[in-house]
Amino acid sequence: MSGEKVYNFSAGPSVLPESALLKAQAELLDYKSSGMSIMEMSHRSLYFKAVFDESKAKLKAALKVPDTHEILFLQGGATLQFAAIPMNLMVSGEASYAVTGNFASLAAKEAEKYGKVHIACDTSDRNHSYIPSPEELSVSEGSDYFYYCANNTIYGTEWHYVPETGKTLVCDMSSDILSKPVDVSKFGLIYAGAQKNMAPAGLTVVIIDKSLAGKAMPITPKVMDYKVLIEKDSMLNTPPCWCIYMLGNTLDWVESVGGVEEIEKLNLEKAKLLYGFLDESKLFVPHAETASRSMMNVTFRTGSQELDGEFVKAAEQRGMLNLKGHRIAGGMRASIYNAMPIEGVKALVDYMKEFEVTHNV
Ligand SMILES: *Cc1c(COP(=O)(O)O)cnc(C)c1O
Repeated sequence: MSGEKVYNFSAGPSVLPESALLKAQAELLDYKSSGMSIMEMSHRSLYFKAVFDESKAKLKAALKVPDTHEILFLQGGATLQFAAIPMNLMVSGEASYAVTGNFASLAAKEAEKYGKVHIACDTSDRNHSYIPSPEELSVSEGSDYFYYCANNTIYGTEWHYVPETGKTLVCDMSSDILSKPVDVSKFGLIYAGAQKNMAPAGLTVVIIDKSLAGKAMPITPKVMDYKVLIEKDSMLNTPPCWCIYMLGNTLDWVESVGGVEEIEKLNLEKAKLLYGFLDESKLFVPHAETASRSMMNVTFRTGSQELDGEFVKAAEQRGMLNLKGHRIAGGMRASIYNAMPIEGVKALVDYMKEFEVTHNV
């Protein structure tokens, strides 16, 4: 289907705003008459320094990051933070983890290497189809922090409240950062792999309350020590330059749309359209419980693995790509991140309606 318009429902790396890609295309070979590509430049060059500062300033503005917090542009993916967080923040050796999906579970297991992990909740009893209520969270008294994953990319559930546990709040926002406004001041640390809603793979954004840095375990690698990274302004070693540039382009698009407040409205509209149809459908069944539905990753199934497979295959032929669910969850998953236009969701719903009719239900 070369050259044809496709809708890419991939969970990550995923769809980016077209304007961000076009800007990159226009600037690819000769960045601001430097005669060079961003990809070829020293990270210490004045050109790149400006790119770095702008991307940081734009992110600070988009999320209204207070001056108490520092923004870091790192490598290693969200997965490296599973280890960096306990190494830096488990000061008295204990933390509480809300296990609401695969990535939170992996983070909790990694943290066990460095201290005592108290499981604040575990939603595997209902196949991670829900987010616990505040009353269902058990936080251990000795916890240095409370950890949760804001949006469960694989299962398609999302926290619709910010838990208030009296402990330092640490949150994995990999798959819903920039999808709605967030009060950063409530968090000790927010982190996100960029490849879902921000930029190409290779950049991890960490937003940390500066007062939490400086207490890392002695075994902590220097490149994972938040205090060192803050002091070096993310330039202890080479940062992911190209991704930081692309983040700036994405943030220009976010601003052009009207900021995260407007982005949230568009995301709600898209999610309503898809969940609205799922609620009516006699064939497709949504996975997440109603109150816990993700605005970013919509998970559903037909109940028959064979039909699921047929659905995904025929969708591909129509240019709707990557609708297969994650291997551990099965079924289907439509990732409708910020950059997925509403036309893509409309096309998907139209196709689902047609599939339902032609399969005699
Ligand atoms: C994708 C994802 C991860 C893993 O990210 P990597 O950058 O591949 O390490 C972690 N948490 C969430 C919520 C994700 O969506």
